[in-house]
Amino acid sequence: MTDQPTRSTAALDRYAASLLGVFGRPKLVLESGRGCRVTDTDGRTYLDLLGGIAVSALGHGHPDLVAAIADQAQRLIHVSNFFTTEQQVALAERLLAVSGAPEGSAVFFTNSGAESNEAAIKLSRRTGRTQIVVAEGAFHGRSTGAVALTGKAAYREPFEPLIPGVVRVPYNDVDALHAAVTDATAAVLLEPIQGEAGVVPATAAYLQAARELTSAHGALLVMDEVQTGIGRTGDWFAFSQSGIQPDAMTLAKGLGGGVPIGALVTFGAETTALLQPGQHGTTFGGGPLACAAGLAVLDVIERDDLCGNAARVGDYLAEQVEALGDARIATTRGRGLLRAIELAQPISADVAVAAQDAGFIVNAPTPTCLRLAPALVLTTADVDEFVAALPAILSTAADAAAAKETTR
Ligand SMILES: *Cc1c(COP(=O)(O)O)cnc(C)c1O
Repeated sequence: MTDQPTRSTAALDRYAASLLGVFGRPKLVLESGRGCRVTDTDGRTYLDLLGGIAVSALGHGHPDLVAAIADQAQRLIHVSNFFTTEQQVALAERLLAVSGAPEGSAVFFTNSGAESNEAAIKLSRRTGRTQIVVAEGAFHGRSTGAVALTGKAAYREPFEPLIPGVVRVPYNDVDALHAAVTDATAAVLLEPIQGEAGVVPATAAYLQAARELTSAHGALLVMDEVQTGIGRTGDWFAFSQSGIQPDAMTLAKGLGGGVPIGALVTFGAETTALLQPGQHGTTFGGGPLACAAGLAVLDVIERDDLCGNAARVGDYLAEQVEALGDARIATTRGRGLLRAIELAQPISADVAVAAQDAGFIVNAPTPTCLRLAPALVLTTADVDEFVAALPAILSTAADAAAAKETTR
């Protein structure tokens, strides 16, 4: 090592002096990517097992996605919602088709998961009710409406008062849901797998109970599929694994393969009719560039059976991690390529650092949990590479954690 700052440290220093500090110091300065690999400005390449937090569904630099974006950019990037494009209409039609939405269903395009949930909140208000039932541990976004639905108090409390009427119930607790949902409930809004909480799946029985209770009380059932949707869990949408159909779902993350786009999908004519002309809007949502990206993502997922790949490679990953028989790993959770490795000790942050030093990008959403949400094109060979390195990564992390303990 010389005293010369590397390109990465130089950029990080400039970052600290120019970016609002809400994210802390970034872990890397990335420059390029191909498939499941990314390269930083110091020339180091990493196996990306996080996929930009479940966003880069096709991996980095996918030729079909790049071509779709480049082609659309040549034609039109933006038109405003006074106008539409064939790309916008086609993407809405494709989303309705892959979600099995009945006649009368519809799509509202946004630019992010939080915006999709904001649209769902406004939809629910049109029932004439204001109470929204959400789960403890939930993550629904950072805008003032979406953050009100989010579980973590530290995300909410600095910004109170937030919207009233939010009722929190323990996740996967059918009795608590029974007690909470009444004729005053506008909506029950749930993640089919809680991503930020550490990849915690809802049981099928829980989602079925949520469906029955909301129907019985005239409330909407909204599935937040922002993280779980678009093939991530081995199906187009995770709710289908419980055999239910919600009244609405929210999407974002994987939908554009990295280009910002989200959606609210309303199921059936009755729910669709809740939002009338003029009652909601967006300048950028549903623009042709993002919709062309979304269409390319859906095309490639279908053509290359990436739902099937996510299911197979995700199961393989869980099997291989379990087969290590390593006592430092408590269990694995999740479906498809949304997976948690639950550690026996609260050293996940140290493990993420050690993994990065060893050339693997993973994420630590809780002190004991590693989250993996790689591109849906991940291969079993990629999994083998990571699993082979994992025992040494865990040792390095345990040493680092112990060293911090003794210097304290
Ligand atoms: C990431 C996420 C959001 C928020 O999405 P943004 O695009 O960051 O606004 C909402 N819900 C879930 C389940 C998420 O994982």
